[in-house]
Amino acid sequence: MSRRKQLIVQKFGGSSVANVDRIKNVAQRVLETKTKTNQLVVVVSALGDTTDELEALALQLSQNPPDREMDMLMSTGEQVSCALLAIAIKELGHDSISFTGGQVGIKTDGLYTKARIHKIDARRIRKALKEGKIVIVAGYQGIAENHDITTLGRGGSDLTAVALAKTLHADVCEIFTDVPGIYTTDPRVVKEAQKLKQITFEEMLEMASLGAQVMQARSIEVAKRFNIPIHVRSSFVKEEGTMILKRDEKLEEVSVRGITCDKSEAKITICAVPDKPGVAAYIFNEISKVGISVDTIVQNVSHTRLTDISFTVAKTDLDKAIKATEKISKKIGAGEVQHDKNVARVSIVGSGMRSHHGIAAKMFQTLAKRKINIEMITTSEISISCIIHSGNADKAAKSLHAAFELEKINQM
Ligand code: ADP
Ligand code: ASP
Ligand code: MG
Repeated sequence: MSRRKQLIVQKFGGSSVANVDRIKNVAQRVLETKTKTNQLVVVVSALGDTTDELEALALQLSQNPPDREMDMLMSTGEQVSCALLAIAIKELGHDSISFTGGQVGIKTDGLYTKARIHKIDARRIRKALKEGKIVIVAGYQGIAENHDITTLGRGGSDLTAVALAKTLHADVCEIFTDVPGIYTTDPRVVKEAQKLKQITFEEMLEMASLGAQVMQARSIEVAKRFNIPIHVRSSFVKEEGTMILKRDEKLEEVSVRGITCDKSEAKITICAVPDKPGVAAYIFNEISKVGISVDTIVQNVSHTRLTDISFTVAKTDLDKAIKATEKISKKIGAGEVQHDKNVARVSIVGSGMRSHHGIAAKMFQTLAKRKINIEMITTSEISISCIIHSGNADKAAKSLHAAFELEKINQM
């Protein structure tokens, strides 16, 4: 009886394939994994900053380019890198074949720029694997029912990898990036950051949603739902990285496992809003009608029947949000609409927070000691976030890292 071959999915991010030498390095790395008894599917991102550069080109032509055309444009980056990697692997003597998302049956809905994967018809991948080829798939993209190309949201190559690992029942899903694993916080900002051996899906999802760029949040949602362990590791250094897993008893002992910092939001305040039932419902309904997602919302207590309402939106939505909010403010008889681009969200994350007390107080005291003013606060079961001035963001991350002794996390 023939045993099923081990199937490995590997994903290489943009900086791992930023130039010809790095693509050669990835080809070598891939071939080191390939044995006679395994099958390999490799997902790649676009070269270096290609996706940003493509977006910038479009924005030179229009402030509001159509989403459909943006997907046509932005998906090309991955088409280049997957073809180049297939060429590099062939040059090293192994058969390989590159595919776009559409060619390997990644079927999505029609929500351009943030499409959701409905299903993957992996017959073509399976056939190529059976023929002994290393399969290279362009990340971040799929195809809608009307055959249009769609993209899966920024960072979406992670999602391509996890979704393929699920569909193909992969034995291993490895995400190769430019840092050696998941750290307690961004190691580029806090040099004391520690690489974690393991982190739960729940904590990783929270960190990713709160701005840790290293994994796309949507990919972790899928990994969590289908229990697909992920190994995040370096494309440049050969060492074990971080396992993202369902649970580990030991993992529940620390209160705070990570700190994130997100500078992608802006704050809008509507002043002197009439304090009566239905006003908040009206404001946020109108804002959602123009397709803008709102994050943290704060409404002050009113003593004068007028109140201020502040909320955050993605910086990229700010202009649209200001226009919509000014209209709303007129309609409800409220006052001035103010905005602030210089805000950052700094958050602490840890599933142990559920069973530890005094975490919020310690966070606020730490920021106060550094004279950092807190503008807004939000909490979830396993995180606390403060909106602060963006100029203080790195200082806040460093001091919170020290206050929660995260440099010692691997000794706990
Ligand atoms: P890729 O191109 O491989 O997808 P990304 O740039 O999307 O890589 O993500 C890797 C980057 O994420 C790192 O260079 C690092 O600066 C940043 N990062 C932010 N938070 C963390 C964290 N907690 N652990 C590791 N890296 C982090
Ligand atoms: N190239 C895409 C981006 O920059 C997808 C990815 O890198 O995962 O968002
Ligand atoms: Mg990424």
